[in-house]
Amino acid sequence: MSNTTIAQENQEMGSSEDIKQVLNFIDGEYVVGGGKMFANINPATGEQSSMVSEAGKEDVDRAVKSARAALKGPWGKLTVAERCELLYKVADGINARFDEFLAAEIADTGKPKSLASHIDIPRGAANFKVFADMIKNVPTESFFLETPDGEGAVNYGVRTEKGIVAVISPWNLPLLLMTWKVGPALACGNTVVVKPSEETPSTTALLGEVMNDVGVPPGVFNVIHGFGPGSAGEFLTEHPGVDAITFTGETGTGEAIMQKASVGMRDISLELGGKNPALVFADCDMDKAIEGTLRSAFANCGQVCLGTERVYVERPIFDEFVARLKEGAENLVAGAPYDADTNLGPLVSEEHKEKVLGYFKLAVEEGATVVTGGGVPELGDALNGGSWVQPTIWTGLSEDSRVVNEEIFGPCCHIQPFDTEDQAIEWANDTEYGLACSIWTENSSRSHRVARQIEAGLIWVNSWFLRDLRTAFGGAKQSGIGREGGIHSLEFYTELKNVCVKL
Ligand code: NAD
Repeated sequence: MSNTTIAQENQEMGSSEDIKQVLNFIDGEYVVGGGKMFANINPATGEQSSMVSEAGKEDVDRAVKSARAALKGPWGKLTVAERCELLYKVADGINARFDEFLAAEIADTGKPKSLASHIDIPRGAANFKVFADMIKNVPTESFFLETPDGEGAVNYGVRTEKGIVAVISPWNLPLLLMTWKVGPALACGNTVVVKPSEETPSTTALLGEVMNDVGVPPGVFNVIHGFGPGSAGEFLTEHPGVDAITFTGETGTGEAIMQKASVGMRDISLELGGKNPALVFADCDMDKAIEGTLRSAFANCGQVCLGTERVYVERPIFDEFVARLKEGAENLVAGAPYDADTNLGPLVSEEHKEKVLGYFKLAVEEGATVVTGGGVPELGDALNGGSWVQPTIWTGLSEDSRVVNEEIFGPCCHIQPFDTEDQAIEWANDTEYGLACSIWTENSSRSHRVARQIEAGLIWVNSWFLRDLRTAFGGAKQSGIGREGGIHSLEFYTELKNVCVKL
């Protein structure tokens, strides 16, 4: 049965329920869960695009048990080469149905086609190939130990899968951030139960069809839908059959998940929130700094964990920088996702829009000068029901204001002038978060000197979001625990055992 079969059956029976239903995917089959049906809204228009079936506790239990059975059965018996061949087919399978994945992602997020077709879908597929290649080529350590009898002993490392991995993913880059975890988890021989965000369940559900089509055994990849507390997310993280939990989302949710993981001593990887700074020095290439900051503040409507919400600009170029960033923000084109000119989408939901507009109001109350934006755009009848806000820039806030300290996750940034390198570094680090930072300077000594002092997991010089998947990805301070990417993903998704052989 495919993900849409039930909708078709409803239509055939003359039911008014002809809207698409997004189902749970357990043990290779699409099933209606024991929870409620909830509406999935297209945030570009405000219209309902599908109904989603929430998994109940029994569904989550069945998903975990089917993941265990697959691990002990067909999946666990495959060679690394056979496993990797299947993962290559999964990537090819996504690409073969590129337009379906694209349409599903756009319906869930409202993001522009230009963005989703360039980033979300191709990178979502590539994650399966990158980590399949990695697992085939990774060495393990070995040591020769001298012993009193002179014969010695050989130690060598063996990597095996960790077991059942729970993957809990957010809504901002749904397919990409989910496969970023499912790809390496499967490459390392684990099986997974995935809980996508309730806002964006569709591409994760669709991936089940690809898994079946290419011959991934039932139970290797399971999807359960629903919410966090008291729903599928919590049922999954507290299930004793789960061996490890990997999560991307808000810091507060990470704390709740960490508590669940502590029962039974399950391993966790947490990729959490940020309040990322950009440091723009007077010796920067202004064109590059403006182009990069426009992307880092406004790409994906500011809903990128790595996005810049605090910009510190050296005083001699402050006025020029503010004027040029304003011009760039005002030239962004909000509109229908499939329009070729559109490069700014909506926020993911009305709830998130209310949160972001709350910060727009707060900024004014805290004394900000609104350089541009601050409200809701007028986009015409077809889109006015959507969750749109204007790209917004502020100046004039104090460093201890809430708007400068709390993650907003919208298309907005505050720009502050600085006078010395030390002051810029101090302000950049004066946050409970530590995810990412961009430094804009043509002075290479300065770039290295400043980068070392930034308290963040990811530091870019003269760029932003330039990702090499072999490198460590993760946050310092309250932006996360652990690193994924390259060998670091293998560290999390495998158990490293030492075998000691006495000669
Ligand atoms: P969220 O924490 O609200 O939700 C993320 C996922 O967790 C969803 O699937 C949700 O249903 C689930 N969830 C919520 N409460 C839960 C609970 N108690 N137990 C189990 N699961 C639960 O995050 P979001 O709003 O979807 O995403 C935005 C946040 O994600 C931002 O803070 C952003 O910075 C962060 N993020 C971080 C990274 C990173 O790599 N560090 C990447 C993307 C997004």
